[in-house]
Amino acid sequence: MTPSNNTPSRALQQDARAWSRFTGTNYTSALRQMSSPLAQGFLGPRVSARRLIVTLNDHELVGAQGGDPFLGENGVRSDSPWRFDGKTDYIQLALITDMLRMFRPTAGSEAPEVGSYSLKHTAEWFLSPHCSYVSNGRLIWAAAALGFPIADPDGDGPNVLIGVSEREHDYVRRMVGSGYAQPQADHYRPAAYDHLRAALARAGAGELITEDWIRPEPVNDPAPFHDWLVQQVGRNDVVGDLTGDYSAGVRDSDHRIARSAAELLAIFHEVSHSPEAYDAVVISIAEWMRTNPSSAAPIRTEPIGGDTHDHGGWGAGSGTTERYEYLCPCGSGAIVEEHDNIPGFREHDVWIACEKCRAEWRFAEGKGVRDWALEPEALHATV
Ligand SMILES: [Zn+2]
Repeated sequence: MTPSNNTPSRALQQDARAWSRFTGTNYTSALRQMSSPLAQGFLGPRVSARRLIVTLNDHELVGAQGGDPFLGENGVRSDSPWRFDGKTDYIQLALITDMLRMFRPTAGSEAPEVGSYSLKHTAEWFLSPHCSYVSNGRLIWAAAALGFPIADPDGDGPNVLIGVSEREHDYVRRMVGSGYAQPQADHYRPAAYDHLRAALARAGAGELITEDWIRPEPVNDPAPFHDWLVQQVGRNDVVGDLTGDYSAGVRDSDHRIARSAAELLAIFHEVSHSPEAYDAVVISIAEWMRTNPSSAAPIRTEPIGGDTHDHGGWGAGSGTTERYEYLCPCGSGAIVEEHDNIPGFREHDVWIACEKCRAEWRFAEGKGVRDWALEPEALHATV
């Protein structure tokens, strides 16, 4: 038998029957909720009502295990019965399930560290206006039914810890919550974030979304410079100070990851910093290049302008002149590259048009005028 839009599939009928019994509503209302565009599962299969129901008994931490309910509307250890309205209860749980599926679950020895009560607020903000109230108990319930890690380290109170990526949660909370500093970089953005936002808007407008979401393969770009920076955290010198600030900035999504020395300079051009911090950047880059000669490359800086002009020439035919400007490493001057491509008069030159940078940087050897790259003078200093 092929299910069509008019004939609910057998699984859907069974689910609706179980939910109507469990919540004390009629079958038609349960079926209507299960057919809502918002309840179809945007990041995985539609959440099974029967699975939700058995979780309340069978789950090793929050299940009743045949005894008194352990989980209720307000959380664990709270004598708060579920308040089912028969209209949106299942849809809410389906939405909370998708919100949780967006996050990378903790794995291995990673301990759950995101509080259910904090996650409940994030769910409300993220799912608004489709679901404006999420109870602590339902958040825990959906997480338990999904099989996410759950910990109850205090053994007290209504809250538990849920095993979702703490950094991803922090990112989403700051994106959707009010009164938080917005993230300035997206390295902790959950892979499904944009898809889920868009799917919620479409389903909220009544569209039945049938396409499956395919989780992208995690990209594992090696970033040896970033790794080196992080390894220097804790040193008792200017490099330790700089890399400590850098790591905190990455952790808080205040700026992006520096995959190369050039990217670290580019980040410094975007964030406010002290002159001392810039000096520490130059010292760190020199040390990185000295200690990792095989992976460290001399740097190019960001282009800031340039143009090409036709030139009538000097009697031996016409030509062109080119002039390009790049930001200097300290950010207050420029690297200037000029080319005269005129018959009988060809000249190519590049120079550092910044006094501070001229003292601190030099052009790497073995490079042409067009593929110039810079190294700190300190790299060549005899220690
Ligand atoms: Zn400069």
